[in-house]
Amino acid sequence: MSPDIFATLREILRVQKLSKNHGGYHGETIDIRTVLREVETAAQQHGWTSDIFYVAGEFKLFALHYQPLSPSTTNRAPRIYISTGIHGDEPAGPLAALRLLQENNWPEGAEIWLLPCLNPVGFILNKRENADGIDLNRDYRNPQTPEVCAHIAWLKRQPQFDLCLCLHEDWESHGFYLYEQNPDKKPSRAEKIIARVAAVCPIDWSENIEGREAKGGIIRPNLDPQTRPQWAEAFYLIVNKARLGYTLEAPSDFPLQTRVNTLVAGVNAALFIC
Ligand SMILES: [Zn+2]
Repeated sequence: MSPDIFATLREILRVQKLSKNHGGYHGETIDIRTVLREVETAAQQHGWTSDIFYVAGEFKLFALHYQPLSPSTTNRAPRIYISTGIHGDEPAGPLAALRLLQENNWPEGAEIWLLPCLNPVGFILNKRENADGIDLNRDYRNPQTPEVCAHIAWLKRQPQFDLCLCLHEDWESHGFYLYEQNPDKKPSRAEKIIARVAAVCPIDWSENIEGREAKGGIIRPNLDPQTRPQWAEAFYLIVNKARLGYTLEAPSDFPLQTRVNTLVAGVNAALFIC
């Protein structure tokens, strides 16, 4: 085949927006009960423990914990926190958590906490908020919802983390982007995450995303959380639990499998520094 044909094929195979989302997410949904059963199975197979910290009806919120059998004796094992599924209309997050568990590829010696779904009822309802219509990801400053109160109580029982990753989706975005919170100016992983994700998903190159200045798909919010009336989970984490955090945003107007690949690639890029 001529190079022209290869170019045409590449163009046809390029990931395309679906243009399904108008006024909200209208794409594929998941059966969260099945996904969470598979999550628990994969976690058990690979030696994770499960800590249930909130139960409401048939649903529970739980954290998975992996402690390496032989932690490094020279360096303290890095402590990594990953959470997702706080918005019930963002199905790629719990699916990415499942894939990460099934692939079981983690940095050597790392201790990991993985919260695969912080709002299971939201997935049943296919909506962003919890059953009472409250956006849990705005409730971390003066928590009112039982879910966030329970999550914060659990967080207070954990050690400090070295790195926090929150996995999300954005139905309005033109491609992948991320927020970096890095108050101590540690070596940034943002550019590396963007480069890795660019191989599987378009990047949102807009200079303004969600009303914030962005560059190369990266938003570095230059604001003091104390000035904000409402806190997302990521704000609570950066104030109380870690000094380096990334919120990864997959574009939910692309096929679900692409978004799962995107979040998994982003997490792997953040975890494996090379
Ligand atoms: Zn979200």
